[in-house]
Amino acid sequence: MADKRDYYETLGISKGASDDEIKKAFRAQAKKYHPDLNPDNPQAEAKFKEVNEANEVLSDPQKRQRYDSYGHAGVDPSYGGGGGGFGGFGGFGGFSGGVDIDLGDIFDNLFGSGGGRSSSAANASRQGADINYNMDISFMEACKGVDKQVEVQRQEPCDTCGGSGAKAGTSPKTCSECSGSGKIRYQQRTLFGMTQSTKPCMRCSGKGKIIDSPCSSCSGHGRVQRKKKITVAVPAGIDDGQVLCVRGEGHVGLNSGGRGDLNARISVKKDPIFKRDGFNIFVEVPLTYSQAALGAEVEIPTIDGQVKLNIPEGTQPDTMFRLRGKGVQQLRRDGRGDELVKAVIEIPKNLTKQQKDLLKQLDSTLTDKNFVKRESFFERLRRGVGI
Ligand code: ZN
Repeated sequence: MADKRDYYETLGISKGASDDEIKKAFRAQAKKYHPDLNPDNPQAEAKFKEVNEANEVLSDPQKRQRYDSYGHAGVDPSYGGGGGGFGGFGGFGGFSGGVDIDLGDIFDNLFGSGGGRSSSAANASRQGADINYNMDISFMEACKGVDKQVEVQRQEPCDTCGGSGAKAGTSPKTCSECSGSGKIRYQQRTLFGMTQSTKPCMRCSGKGKIIDSPCSSCSGHGRVQRKKKITVAVPAGIDDGQVLCVRGEGHVGLNSGGRGDLNARISVKKDPIFKRDGFNIFVEVPLTYSQAALGAEVEIPTIDGQVKLNIPEGTQPDTMFRLRGKGVQQLRRDGRGDELVKAVIEIPKNLTKQQKDLLKQLDSTLTDKNFVKRESFFERLRRGVGI
């Protein structure tokens, strides 16, 4: 076992991989090598075993830490050192040539909802499911952050029975079939020798406990659906389409399994003035013909209120001005983006006779020297024609 592969390598991930990356990598690998999908393939079976083992360790923060510090010796009881070792692989090694596959766990991991995790230890607890919630916020709330109260239907422990599911005065009994583990081990003779597997206990539906007289409030489920108000702290800088995960605010688990998470998908309402790209904000400022020609001081809206901006004389259409640090707060980081102001120059309409005369009078005094593009345009035209 000295040449055992590195767990990170087995799952094809880096040492710094997040929980999500581990979960994804495990699912992909487990699907690839699952014995059901690779019948009569001992190599796939061995790979599957490796993948499962790597996941057992890396998906458990404590085991992962021990593994990171001490390597295989930190987590594998067969090395003699590692204290607790890992529960799901108790049958390992003692079963010559056999494969110990926890089908219940694998299927929970592969197909379970919202990352629900069942422990392979003998308590049949189950983590609660996640709650997905669509949250609408205003443009300004996304920029500045906001505490939003949301109301969700959430699985809560039943008050009547305290979550046990048993009627008052009674208590759940340990299932005699599986001795409370919720799983039944069974052996199978295959071409490759004996294999040992587990499946959920039929008698207690994998719960490990039998309730003879169920609680009338929750029909023995131990959980009831309730309306719940939760305050979600939306951080400044969040953007449309992002999902905010509030850990531990999902449905309550079974048999003291932890709660799932609340995933709030953020929908930011469009703003009539401000547009956003990352942490930068865009606005358009309408300028009159003469403001652009003569220069002007104009009021510009920012998310902190109005600021003054000096428009220099001779400003051309679509010129961009940058207001540094007037953009959106960076998400969970210091610093802000910029505000970019685009000069939109409006040509006057519906002029009176007098106004038209004034403009004509002005126009007659202008030459190509007063313009940037006109001069080069006619210059190019002359050169082109002159060939
Ligand atoms: Zn109850």
